[in-house]
Amino acid sequence: MRKCLICEKGNLIKVEDIIFEVENYVFILKGERCSYCNEEFPYEEETHKAIETSKKLGVWPEPMKLYRHLSRSGGGLVFRIPSDLEKQLKLDENTEIGITKIGNKIVIELEK
Ligand SMILES: [Zn+2]
Repeated sequence: MRKCLICEKGNLIKVEDIIFEVENYVFILKGERCSYCNEEFPYEEETHKAIETSKKLGVWPEPMKLYRHLSRSGGGLVFRIPSDLEKQLKLDENTEIGITKIGNKIVIELEK
């Protein structure tokens, strides 16, 4: 069994239920998931298929997965929106957002 590259503690377990979301489309991919940190590694060909399908559907945005650390301010954790996302989505300090917890993901939606 292969070790996880992210945490180097867990083993990668074969799974068939990796959720890959593009806009409002959800793809379920096969791949591997770390038994320790739960990081998911969809198989390359699976990801490729999902991306091709999304392109055909016209829902593929610029590929984007950003890694950020949270910071602490006034006793709370702060997540900073990257400036390229700010521009793309035309966000400002008056933007209202909705936050949803789905499994171990946090989804931030714009409330228009
Ligand atoms: Zn891991």
